[in-house]
Amino acid sequence: QNSRKKLVAGNWKMNGSFDSNEALVLGFLPEVDDQVDVSVFCPFPYLSQVGKLLEDQRVTFGAQDVSAKPGGAYTGDVSVDMLKEFGVKQVLVGHSERRQYHAESSVAVAEKAVAAIQGGITPIVCVGETLAEREAGKVEAVIASQLDPVVERCSKFVESGTWNLVIAYEPVWAIGTGVTASPEQAQEVHAMIRARLNAMLGPEVAQNTRILYGGSVKPGNASEIFAKVDIDGGLIGGAALSSDDFSGIIRAAR
Ligand code: PEP
Repeated sequence: QNSRKKLVAGNWKMNGSFDSNEALVLGFLPEVDDQVDVSVFCPFPYLSQVGKLLEDQRVTFGAQDVSAKPGGAYTGDVSVDMLKEFGVKQVLVGHSERRQYHAESSVAVAEKAVAAIQGGITPIVCVGETLAEREAGKVEAVIASQLDPVVERCSKFVESGTWNLVIAYEPVWAIGTGVTASPEQAQEVHAMIRARLNAMLGPEVAQNTRILYGGSVKPGNASEIFAKVDIDGGLIGGAALSSDDFSGIIRAAR
């Protein structure tokens, strides 16, 4: 057992409507207690609605991306300070869909993580290899190339005592495909990530940083994944859109 509290985070992606968001949130709220941290990541236009639905609840919420820039001529982007006006406490950065469809580099992702921590919100930094990279034996090299720019730029927050970051390991081949990494495959990569944090930032950061698994987590496979020693919860896509499934995954994290 370790002291890391499990976190179950729902990534709604580009889904939702006023009606369906309300039904979803009201559907899973009864399952939330203080044994497990729960958060949801909604599209920008729904931050205000979701913030109201979650007022005085134990669930945090956030956006699925943020700009590294404080403001200015960046059409379509949203700053950390803007998110904070809505009560946002966490933000996803570097999701594989952002890397793939918006050509986000690992350095750009790291800069977003820096901006978030600097502004006092927690980035959930997503990393993960493609199937071709796994088959070529490059898992460790790919994860290192995604993680190291983040660790290098955020190490200053360890020195100032404000390190505040979650990592999500999401193998690209397991996202939205129905194929999950086996608990052993996931644990292997999580242990590698923790060892890297240990080597670069020391044991305290390594022990206290939560590492989530993401990729086709469902109520039926969540318990065995969450039982692994270095897996501190999940980042949930498809199953986060059903209040029954999301509730089942929260239960599995207890
Ligand atoms: C995700 O998008 O972060 C994700 C893990 O999706 P899914 O659960 O649908 O595989």
